[in-house]
Amino acid sequence: MSLIDTYGRVHRDLRVSLTDRCSLRCTYCMPENQIFAPKSTLMSADEVVAFSAAFVKLGINKIRLTGGEPLVRSDFAEIISRIAELKSVGLKTLTLTTNGILLHQRLQTILDAGVEDINVSLDTLMPDRFLKMTRRDQFHKVMSNIHLLLDNQVNTKVNVVVMSGINDDEVFEFIHFTRDYPIEVRFIEFMPFEGNNWRSGKMISSAALLKRASDHFELIPVENSFHGTAKIFRVLGYTGKFGFISTMTAPFCEGCNRIRLTADGKIKNCLFSKGEMDLLSHYRNGIDIKAMIEENILAKEERWGGQSLFENTANRPMVAIGG
Ligand code: SAM
Ligand code: SF4
Repeated sequence: MSLIDTYGRVHRDLRVSLTDRCSLRCTYCMPENQIFAPKSTLMSADEVVAFSAAFVKLGINKIRLTGGEPLVRSDFAEIISRIAELKSVGLKTLTLTTNGILLHQRLQTILDAGVEDINVSLDTLMPDRFLKMTRRDQFHKVMSNIHLLLDNQVNTKVNVVVMSGINDDEVFEFIHFTRDYPIEVRFIEFMPFEGNNWRSGKMISSAALLKRASDHFELIPVENSFHGTAKIFRVLGYTGKFGFISTMTAPFCEGCNRIRLTADGKIKNCLFSKGEMDLLSHYRNGIDIKAMIEENILAKEERWGGQSLFENTANRPMVAIGG
């Protein structure tokens, strides 16, 4: 069984947002006046597991838990351990994206669920700047938890949203960070979402960053997978690697095999899709969701959810979608 769209893309990768709440307030992700959804409108643990199981039956073999901040959910341990059980019916990879703050409390649960790779977001190596960018003073906690992951041999990717005049002066420092640690730093182009004051001048293209990096370091390209979102490089002699995620300037829609489920149980077949399909309400009314999921995939647009990202993008704030 496979979820294939009209462009022949086979969908294997599901991102499940567990909550629209977060312990940080990153300026590019959560608007200052963000209103959180009432808890009763969010998927319960049973619903997250039921939907995940339905997607796995339809051919999804990778699930990434995200948010908001997935680790703030009080029933996180129950959810991840129950989703891990789907490995007996076709799930191959279970992973998560986190701001890292609660990793020291949750790590054993995560490892027990068989997670081998974790993406941690960290946009600056300067504590003061971290406070400005996230509106919370948690730099040292995140950094110590990245080291905790490395001490536990977890494959660790560090997501960095690069913004002009905000943190783009730290690109070399982040590349230096890969010298001694087996991490993968991923520089992400700043994307437009509701309430994040996106302007093209604030975005730095991956090509411009690559040029800066290659003028300064001797780079070796690393093989990339067709479905991967990042173009990866390594500096000669360094332990780790780094890559560029160019959603804005060189989108990877052609190889897209991803689909998203928001914390309030809506399918977004593209990060930028305007339309959402309300699985949760239908499920709560006893309707079989399998046909709805298949229909939704068939409606997937070729690129960027059918929007033009450099004009006014209609979308929720990223914190309410799940990345
Ligand atoms: N709270 C978790 C975290 O920060 O890793 C998971 C959710 S967060 C929405 C997922 C990813 O989306 C993070 O790596 C974050 O940096 C990225 N993100 C959020 N807003 C973005 C934007 N406007 N442009 C590019 N990436 C963004
Ligand atoms: Fe929270 Fe992650 Fe968004 Fe930052 S990027 S506000 S940590 S959801």
